[in-house]
Amino acid sequence: MADEQQTESITTTTGGLPLAGRVAVVTGSSRGIGQATALRLARMGADIVVNYRSDESGAAETRAAIEALSRRATAIQADVSVEEDVQRLFKEVESQFGGVHILVNNAGTTRDRLILQLKLEEFEQVVRTNLTSAFLCTRAALRTMLRARWGRIVNVSSISGIMGQVGQANYSASKAGLIALTKSTAREVASRNITVNAVAPGYVPTELTSTVSEEFRKYYMDITPLKRYGTAEEVAAAIGFLCSPEAGYITGQTIAVDGGISMH
Ligand code: NAP
Repeated sequence: MADEQQTESITTTTGGLPLAGRVAVVTGSSRGIGQATALRLARMGADIVVNYRSDESGAAETRAAIEALSRRATAIQADVSVEEDVQRLFKEVESQFGGVHILVNNAGTTRDRLILQLKLEEFEQVVRTNLTSAFLCTRAALRTMLRARWGRIVNVSSISGIMGQVGQANYSASKAGLIALTKSTAREVASRNITVNAVAPGYVPTELTSTVSEEFRKYYMDITPLKRYGTAEEVAAAIGFLCSPEAGYITGQTIAVDGGISMH
């Protein structure tokens, strides 16, 4: 009975906006794609938990922009590659918001190097930040989603996880792992009305890609049929759709937002 009441209160949207009454955790939302996603979900009606590792002022900026939209927001520092931090993050979410309905596993990093020069620590650090973090956050968030029998999880993968990339064995492996994590989790929780999907962006100018060489940038332009780079807002729009009620029959999928690079 308690479960049914909770399901009812969580699945009933109010205020005309598709995500009104939902609480979304967006990891790594102090800037870039995560920040654009947090704002997108807020515009769709959700209250937002902004997460960051070290960029406190960026997180404060995201939070202020969400509050300006009259949504509830909080900024919580946590390194999502560390289990204790993830436990603390979701405990705080539980006490401040009562749980989480939407999780976007966006936090990510790179340590680009050709595989023969790649150090074990560089491989493991990227996998921990990009992939292990998504496992830890998913496991923590599922507790409330399973109770509520409603949930949306979106993992931010990459074109590199689909096609591979020179100098990115660690990053590509982590992003391909996210696609498999997406499918396996989607199968496990489908019966509870929880969908799990991924987006795979192509090249998007952000701080993460600011150190990419001119030659690499040109390469991406050459292989992109739409002949331009993507924007954080375009990736956020795909994530917003996957979190919306209209996407309720889509699970286990990876949507490429890459200007057509990986079309198949
Ligand atoms: P970005 O501008 O560098 O932002 C990365 C965000 O992740 C920041 O908010 C950063 O916060 C946070 N972060 C990093 N490590 C973290 C950790 N251990 N714990 C918590 N937060 C952490 O990068 P972006 O381009 O927006 O990338 C966002 C996601 O999109 C990443 O997963 C990336 O792999 C993926 N992606 C990007 C592109 C692209 O072209 N930009 C393409 C494909 C996929 P702090 O600074 O506070 O650590």
